[in-house]
Amino acid sequence: MAKKATYGSVKRFGPRYGKTVKDKFGAIEQEQRKKHKCPYCHYERVRRVAIGIWLCGKCNTKFTSKAYTVSKPPAIKVEVEEE
Ligand SMILES: [Zn+2]
Repeated sequence: MAKKATYGSVKRFGPRYGKTVKDKFGAIEQEQRKKHKCPYCHYERVRRVAIGIWLCGKCNTKFTSKAYTVSKPPAIKVEVEEE
């Protein structure tokens, strides 16, 4: 049996809540925590301050966008594959 990729951030939940839910949540959280591209200066320096609020570390612009991502169609793709 091949070992599937897991998201490190969901390890804090331990054995609780189930794999499918944790996989979906991990994909969203990974997208949320990574550095995003700034729509003003186009550097990948944007981090989330709060839900929907983003701050660019390069040009110091604070702006609103989506809750978990800056990019327009959310790049989150959750695949639960069966073996
Ligand atoms: Zn910027």
